[in-house]
Amino acid sequence: MDRTIKKRKSQRQGPVELFCPYCDRTMPYGYDPALGYCRCTGCGVSTEDFHTRTKNGLWDPQKKDAVERAVVESGLVYRGKGKRSKG
Ligand SMILES: [Zn+2]
Repeated sequence: MDRTIKKRKSQRQGPVELFCPYCDRTMPYGYDPALGYCRCTGCGVSTEDFHTRTKNGLWDPQKKDAVERAVVESGLVYRGKGKRSKG
C-alpha cells in the first residue's frame, strides 16, 4: 500500500499538553470521542477532573473551552486500554 502523507495544507500544531496531577508531569491530552472529554493519554483522567482543572486553570470556562478545542484540533484521539480482555 502506498502511504502518501497529505498533511501539508495546514500546519498542524503538536499535541496539546497539560499538567496531569496523576502522572505528575506534563502529558499530551487527547480527545475521547466516546465520552466527549479530553483525557490524559497516560492515565486517562479527563479535563473534568477537579485537580486537572485546578492545575491547568481550567475553572475558567473560556480557557477550558479553548484548551478543549485545541485538543480536538490537534487531532490526537484518546485510546483507552481497549475492551476488557484477559491480561
Ligand atoms: Zn495522567
